[in-house]
Amino acid sequence: MKTAVFPGSFDPFTIGHKDIADRALKLFDRVIIGIGYNINKPGKNSIEERVLSIAKIYADDPKVEVLAYSGLTVEFAKKVDAKFIVRGIREVKDFEYERNLADTNAAISDIETIFLPARPEYGFVSSSMVRELIANGYDPSEFLPHTDNH
Ligand code: ADP
Repeated sequence: MKTAVFPGSFDPFTIGHKDIADRALKLFDRVIIGIGYNINKPGKNSIEERVLSIAKIYADDPKVEVLAYSGLTVEFAKKVDAKFIVRGIREVKDFEYERNLADTNAAISDIETIFLPARPEYGFVSSSMVRELIANGYDPSEFLPHTDNH
């Protein structure tokens, strides 16, 4: 059984994140969406809110689990028995940052990182952009996954 962790801040989880998670589901038997938190950087939405809202999106999919974690992603991956980390790449800047993380993780563990390229239609979508829209009174729902998919 191949398990991957899709780690991120997901503050909030966008349609870009969902696209990466859905594509990872075609590659792996189980995808653990891991919400990494750092007590010094609490973020906008609480960890509980983030876990609940992502879990709601995947309520009907037993292949997805949503968990919060602190500390190193590779430690979290080992705990949930995942040998793979999935990350999305939007642009060159993402790649440089992600390669550094992937190299570090490869140096300290046997966990392989898989990069999935952002779909062009979601390439500009980011959590910070959504937070900015909300802060300025705009409705960001077109950039957020629909929870009610029945
Ligand atoms: P982090 O704080 O760990 O970068 P994010 O929640 O911002 O967490 O992103 C989690 C992962 O999703 C990262 O690999 C990021 O590059 C990827 N990602 C973010 N937005 C998109 C998008 N629109 N399309 C594809 N991948 C994305």
